[in-house]
Amino acid sequence: AESQQPNCNISFKHNRNNNNKPNSFARRQKILEHRKSLPIASVERRLVEVVQENDVLIIVGETGSGKTTQIPQYLFDSGFCHDGKTIGVTQPRRVAAVTVAKRVAEECGVELGQKVGYSIRFEDVTSSSTRIKYMTDGLLLREALLDPYLSRYSVIVVDEAHERTVHTDVLLGLLKRVQNVRSNYIKDQTSVGHKRASNGAILEKENADPCIGVLKQCQGRNLSPLKLIIMSASLDAHVFSKYFGGAKAVRVLGRQFPVDVFYTVDPQTDYLDSAIVTIFQIHSEEAPGDILVFLTGQEEIESVEKQIHENLQRLPEDKRNMKTVTIFSSLPSEQQMRVFAPAPAGFRKVILATNIAETSVTIPGIKYVVDPGVVKARSYDPVKGMESLIIVPTSKAQAIQRSGRAGREGPGKCFRLYPESEFEKLEDSTKPEIKRCNLSNVILQLKALGVDDIFGFDFIEKPSRAAIKKSLEELLLLGALTDEFKLSDPVGRQMARLPLDPVYSKALILASQFKCLDEMLIAVAMLSVESIFYEPREKLDEARTAKKCFASSEGDHLTLINVYRTSIELLEKRKSEVGKDKAEKVMRKWCKENFINSRSLRHARDIHSQIRRLVEQIGLCISSCGDDTLQFRRCLAAAFFLNAALKQPDGTYRALASGEVVQIHPTSVLFRTKADCIIFNEFVKTTNKVSPPLLCQAGVAVFIGVLTAKDIDCGFASASRYLLFAFEIRGHDEIIPTMEFKKQSSVLLE
Ligand code: ADP
Ligand code: MG
Repeated sequence: AESQQPNCNISFKHNRNNNNKPNSFARRQKILEHRKSLPIASVERRLVEVVQENDVLIIVGETGSGKTTQIPQYLFDSGFCHDGKTIGVTQPRRVAAVTVAKRVAEECGVELGQKVGYSIRFEDVTSSSTRIKYMTDGLLLREALLDPYLSRYSVIVVDEAHERTVHTDVLLGLLKRVQNVRSNYIKDQTSVGHKRASNGAILEKENADPCIGVLKQCQGRNLSPLKLIIMSASLDAHVFSKYFGGAKAVRVLGRQFPVDVFYTVDPQTDYLDSAIVTIFQIHSEEAPGDILVFLTGQEEIESVEKQIHENLQRLPEDKRNMKTVTIFSSLPSEQQMRVFAPAPAGFRKVILATNIAETSVTIPGIKYVVDPGVVKARSYDPVKGMESLIIVPTSKAQAIQRSGRAGREGPGKCFRLYPESEFEKLEDSTKPEIKRCNLSNVILQLKALGVDDIFGFDFIEKPSRAAIKKSLEELLLLGALTDEFKLSDPVGRQMARLPLDPVYSKALILASQFKCLDEMLIAVAMLSVESIFYEPREKLDEARTAKKCFASSEGDHLTLINVYRTSIELLEKRKSEVGKDKAEKVMRKWCKENFINSRSLRHARDIHSQIRRLVEQIGLCISSCGDDTLQFRRCLAAAFFLNAALKQPDGTYRALASGEVVQIHPTSVLFRTKADCIIFNEFVKTTNKVSPPLLCQAGVAVFIGVLTAKDIDCGFASASRYLLFAFEIRGHDEIIPTMEFKKQSSVLLE
């Protein structure tokens, strides 16, 4: 017993000192030093003063200077969270909201979700004690539905405003109003002591701006003025300043080392191949330092990662000292922090990122940037009502931001995968998203916030009339708006409460009525994630055979449901047999064997449980249609009828809304079958001018003939009217392809 005693003591002491976290003291010390060394730290006092002096402040600062992580902490420390109020910081991207919140919680030495937390769609890590809250701009817009004056916030920081996402733009408009209401309310409260007179004044204001609506609600709400801070990485602060009536703008200087920019000599045909070659070239020829590679999405990132690993296997053992990490929006949040971990000693870290890493997230250690010069962006044709994601060249401003990432800690190099002459042809800056997207979602939200006059809304940059009109029309057809363009009750109101694209919300509401919500929930969750199936080039046949096991002749939606159900069944069974962790491992193996992306599938499961909770909250009832899929397909048709396409005599399809000739995507289970009428969820523009645009995720729609008068009564009215109209015009269309063929062949003969 004697000899055991000291051992016991030593071990006890060891535990207590480290508080179960190895080196936690040293780590805190390091973080403190890091915070003090940031460029922004030297101007902390001055920054807090200008915030105190100005209700709206624009802060421009180089990326990595410490704006996002430090400013909210400075404000907290100077008492901006009095009376239990919160500092809200919005980000255009979920990943940024999550990683920054985690970092700041660590810097503050608190548990995430307590003083510092984040909230993004489908994930809320906050509590009543949260005082610094990071969130997406879209989420704050949703919060306004429940709390129109955002009364819990004393400060709202709109970060990354230069990105000009549609949510940022709408949020700025909303915040301008909220700030007005709140300061008017304070004035009324303080200037007139008499309660009656004060009420009178408030009522007058309400009449003056009926859109703002129920000012009376403010009574007794303890509203304080709202501070607004707009942060941007680019220098054109004047746009924001002008919008906020000449608001003050300040600039925070960062540290930037010189970056040498290189261009390819020749134009590149395949930027993914070129990126891989460049990565290995840097690895073998350049000094140590991490590489940041900009790619356009999850699929590209995963395929490049795989290729890198394969190439590494072919290198001699001593050259394999390269480690890849990835970051993109649909990466599960527990994996997102991995990009910040330094590579093992002697290894080079290669970060494969979407343009998340352009300004929102700063990863230490980068010395080389590989920039293919492209980005995935939304594009919208208001005449055709078609929105699509396309890969487009970056702007000059983006290219410059990207190269700047190589020079944060020392001189760096940026390799642009295009010739220098191409750079000159790039646009100076990116067009705001509000000018190139479908507006149905934001219009629905504005309506729900009481903004009835969309054309008159004070946007920082007005979307085109055509785009607004098209979206109002779409919402009307979906039944979200009444004939007077007011939000309908309950459908419009329910749709506004769901954080989904209006057509998806509509699909869920219909499915609840037609007793197939169980199926629709799965379909919506699976459609909300990127690429469930993957088809590696070298194993194409195997992958397609595997997919056949799940394929439904009725389309991709039901195929996805089959995958989901099969996987859940397996998971539950294994869980009861071997426990949760092992079951997840079995799942990953199963996914691999079936060429299913296990990351995406897990993500879909999370989303499914979140949407399920939400639909229950708004009172929809969940039941399954079993094998009788007719009702399900009817609901699909009734929700997605604007995305219907009809088969043409020549075997191609014609999208009804746009009249565009389209093809079914080769990955769709309907690729070879020739259903007469289909609906689709995704529209991909091909770069190849000869072949028509492709449709993804198609499902067979029900014929108009199948719909009875009863269906029409039950809410299929607009869908069926629409499809009927479409069928009528089909007769005329049949002549057109023949004429086109003639013309083609005569050209060919010459
Ligand atoms: P800005 O908003 O001005 O671009 P940030 O506040 O995001 O700057 O970042 C400030 C610094 O904090 C950067 O040097 C960045 O590398 C560092 N940083 C941010 N998040 C992390 C993290 N999770 N791990 C390590 N360093 C981080
Ligand atoms: Mg930032």
